Amino acid sequence: MQCAKCGSLMEKVLYESIEADRCLECKGLWLDAKVVQALIHMQGSELVDSGDRSIGKLMNEKREIYCPLCGVLMNHLADPDNPDVEYEKCPSCNGMFLDAGELSSLKGESFLNFVKKFKEN
Ligand SMILES: [Zn+2]
Ligand SMILES: [Zn+2]
Repeated sequence: MQCAKCGSLMEKVLYESIEADRCLECKGLWLDAKVVQALIHMQGSELVDSGDRSIGKLMNEKREIYCPLCGVLMNHLADPDNPDVEYEKCPSCNGMFLDAGELSSLKGESFLNFVKKFKEN
C-alpha cells in the first residue's frame, strides 16, 4: 500500500492482534474501520504511533488525499473534543488516516467518545 499523504510505501505494523499500515517516511497510520473498533479495547495500542508529532503536524496540512483502497477523496474531519486532532476518513470504506502523533493524542479519556462519534459519522 502507498501512503495517501506522501506516496511512500507503508509497512504492516502489528500490535497484539491489530494490524495497521504505517508509512515508512511520514509515519502516518492507515486504519481500516474494523481496526478502529478494535482499538477501543486495546491499552497501549498507541505504541504503533511511533512517528514524530512535528512531522505529523506538517503532513496534517495536506488535506486532499485519496483513499488507498477505494481511490475516492477522503473527508477531512476534526474531533471537537480534541481540536488538535484532524484526520481523514474514507466515505466509502470508513478507513481512517491518522498523521504521526494523532493516535497518541486520541488515546485519552475522550477516546471512547471519539470512536463512538467516528461510528456515527
Ligand atoms: Zn507518508
Ligand atoms: Zn476507502
